[in-house]
Amino acid sequence: MAPQSLSSVNLTILGSASAQPSSTRNHSALALRLGGDVWLFDCGEATQHRIQKSNVKMGRIKKIFITHTHGDHIFGLLPLMASCLDGSGGMVNESEDGRLQSGSTEETQPLEIYGPLGTRAFIRTGIFYSYTNLGAPYVVHELRLPTDPVDGDYTTLPPRSPELPGRNIMQTNGAWTDIFPDEVVSVAAAPILHSVPCVGFVVTELPIPGKIDPKDYVPHLKRTNTPMSVMRQLQQGESVELSDGTILKGPLRRPGRKVAILGDTYDPSPIIDLALDADLLVHEATNAHLPRVDPNTKDDDTYESVEARTKSRGHSTPQMAGAFAKRIRAKRLLLNHFSARYAGNDDVDEEAKKIMEAIRGLAMQEFDGPVICARDFMSFDVELPH
Ligand SMILES: [Zn+2]
Ligand SMILES: [Zn+2]
Repeated sequence: MAPQSLSSVNLTILGSASAQPSSTRNHSALALRLGGDVWLFDCGEATQHRIQKSNVKMGRIKKIFITHTHGDHIFGLLPLMASCLDGSGGMVNESEDGRLQSGSTEETQPLEIYGPLGTRAFIRTGIFYSYTNLGAPYVVHELRLPTDPVDGDYTTLPPRSPELPGRNIMQTNGAWTDIFPDEVVSVAAAPILHSVPCVGFVVTELPIPGKIDPKDYVPHLKRTNTPMSVMRQLQQGESVELSDGTILKGPLRRPGRKVAILGDTYDPSPIIDLALDADLLVHEATNAHLPRVDPNTKDDDTYESVEARTKSRGHSTPQMAGAFAKRIRAKRLLLNHFSARYAGNDDVDEEAKKIMEAIRGLAMQEFDGPVICARDFMSFDVELPH
């Protein structure tokens, strides 16, 4: 059967702050809605509070992707899991003779979590020492670097129900090219350079039906009295044989949508091949040099000095994000992960708007496609390529 295509792909920003949250920006978290499912990318502190105030439904979260284990990207994961997985506080051994023995793990699809080495240990340890009992299963798959230990996962704590055994996914040619099989989308990832091991994810919709032009087909169908309903088969790219022996072939399938979501980085070049031609690139832009716009600009700073300082901390400027968007021929760039000094209420505050427009302008010096600056609760569709 031909693969399905998604009815919609939508991105909601739950948190767009870097290390420090502010009253207008929360820590990192993005929700990608693929049809009815929600996949979260990063889960900073208080992400579940953001979800409650957003259009994202907690019960729809099926997968969580962690770009790296810095606290501003993972501190919200345990409380979110407790809510999603029907958690409760209690005795350590409570779940061992509780609901799970009734067979609920077999019936429920586990919440799947993907992240670098340390993700599993963080979750298992946090759940154990906070005496949290989860009522539904979860599984952690780790994206392992060649330098990571082959065995072990940074914890000596044994897995405890309802944690299911996860995979340690090894690289092929420097990337994690096939993270899981799906009939609709594929997910790949590659390491990107930051101060700690960090990952960029690329979500690709499988090829979708090609564009069909009725005038190429309808006259043939009418001539041979073929029911118009075969247009549906043709639309899926299938061939149809008419009563006079003519074979009509549907249009070739075309690439679906591609979204590249990068974690913190000062150089994401290892992900170039995977992210090429992305319809949307999410790239951090933690710091910017904004003379005459940002009143906190230091007198002796220059574009070069700010870039050097930003890189030394493992981060990017808007120009670096723009240059990368150009390099991978992205259709659209979303700047994200802003320093706390850049307020996120630019929809209502003139000062904030001036600063975010200046940041956008810096990215546009390098990239001539559309640039959006992330704002918490912003939500938009990723359109099908033309
Ligand atoms: Zn960060
Ligand atoms: Zn970081």
